[in-house]
Amino acid sequence: MPLAAAQPVSGPLAIPHFIAGRQVPGTSGRTAPVYNPATGVQSGEVALASEAEVRAAVEAANAAAPGWAATTPLRRARILNAFLRILEERIDTLAEVISSEHGKVFSDAKGEIQRGMEVVEFATGAPQLLKGEITEDVGTRVDSHAVRQPLGVVAGITPFNFPAMVPMWMFPVALACGNCFILKPSERDPSASLLLAEWLKEAGLPDGVFTVVQGDKVAVDALLNDPGVEAISFVGSTPIARYIYETAARTGKRCQALGGAKNHMIIMPDADMDQAVDALMGAAYGSAGERCMAVSVAVPVGEGTAEALMEKLEPRVRALKVGPGTDPEAEMGPLVTKQHLDKVSGYVDSGVAEGAKLVVDGRGLKLQGYEGGYFIGGTLFDHVTSDMRIYKEEIFGPVLAVVRADSYATAARLINTHEFGNGTAIFTRDGDAAREFAHQIKVGMVGINVPIPVPMAFHSFGGWKASLFGDHHMHGPEGVRFYTRLKTITTRWPTGIRAGADFVMPTMK
Ligand code: NAD
Repeated sequence: MPLAAAQPVSGPLAIPHFIAGRQVPGTSGRTAPVYNPATGVQSGEVALASEAEVRAAVEAANAAAPGWAATTPLRRARILNAFLRILEERIDTLAEVISSEHGKVFSDAKGEIQRGMEVVEFATGAPQLLKGEITEDVGTRVDSHAVRQPLGVVAGITPFNFPAMVPMWMFPVALACGNCFILKPSERDPSASLLLAEWLKEAGLPDGVFTVVQGDKVAVDALLNDPGVEAISFVGSTPIARYIYETAARTGKRCQALGGAKNHMIIMPDADMDQAVDALMGAAYGSAGERCMAVSVAVPVGEGTAEALMEKLEPRVRALKVGPGTDPEAEMGPLVTKQHLDKVSGYVDSGVAEGAKLVVDGRGLKLQGYEGGYFIGGTLFDHVTSDMRIYKEEIFGPVLAVVRADSYATAARLINTHEFGNGTAIFTRDGDAAREFAHQIKVGMVGINVPIPVPMAFHSFGGWKASLFGDHHMHGPEGVRFYTRLKTITTRWPTGIRAGADFVMPTMK
């Protein structure tokens, strides 16, 4: 529907930047439309920053950086504490904004905020997290101590699928460590970032310490090339993650770039099948499969396991309740954009063309009253093989591929030879098999009878292989390491004043 017809008076909401402590309208003349995925109606028009606008934002952040770095960790932690209380009070407001631009159901939006808040809670431990190391007497009357200092201005570039949680994997830790943070959110659901910025300011964060630059590749490239940015955290698809990592290496910035995924769940013959099916439903279809930790491949081991799994899974997939994010009964909302819907439907077409058995087809789903929405129903393929595109590539939709394996070894080999290595799970009652799996599998996050093994805030999140470029995972201790640099100080106070001069060459005696 043309927007003029939908909003004759006000038009689409202009979505600005947040620079130096206030909302700043875009001046580049470039914008992108933002849609409500449940209706297909345009709700906003987000500014896309030019290189000059990014430069101005980086300058403002650099102006604030010395003051923030000099603020004691305890004071920083108190501001994060106040921010946490605001988030607790206003979680519903933020969840509504996320649901209206992303499409995920309201309860799921609240869930992602909750997971983000846990990182804020972790970061409120800043004084403890930043404690250094000391060794007395590394040499006679010589001491060494090591401290972690902030980097300066750091930037985060985030994907559409978690507009609050993924930024919160980054900025609470970055701020706690004394850095200024510039967020470049996804242009598809940019409004949550502005609420976060306003609430941080309200919590007492000085102007310029947290910045939002809205934008696309132009803004990302400007951040990558700006000498005023010390480090880049990225979460998104693998081709862009690789590009970010390579460019950051060229421009001399510290970088962690998390990419895409194809997460497998092995179902062993001894698994509790009801439990495994419940787990698969949530993990494959929750948030319409638009999660980097979604299970998109189920691997039953043995024909009997495969038959039992399919018998229980098929009716459950058919019964999935799809609806707008505002429907409290809905288990799954629409996809984020029309383009993404077309892409996911295209993958289903390709699976059929390549000979997989389409057991449940979600294509072409129309909901009454939401005919313009980007809906697709839960989709289930059986007899998928490792040479098919729907196996090799990340679909990022509610499409589950079942690959039958004749043995545990075949199942494990599938995972270990796959391009991606973000998350994986095994369902079994056999502790020995589970232990072997956890030990041998080449994946960063592993679940034993846990389908989505997302580490808590005080551990660190990250995959292996093409799912992460860089050395550091996000949040937890790895986050603290990423956002600080180590300085080691060796101290010797000459004894001359108290005990007379020492004329011997100073060595570590
Ligand atoms: P995306 O790669 O398209 O976009 C991510 C960010 O990069 C956005 O801010 C976008 O504006 C920017 N961007 C896009 N194209 C660019 C380009 N050519 N040059 C520079 N910047 C560019 O990802 P998305 O579609 O927003 O998110 C979905 C992807 O994110 C999936 O692949 C998913 O697996 C991945 N993801 C991974 C994790 C993880 O922890 N590994 C978590 C969430 C999402």
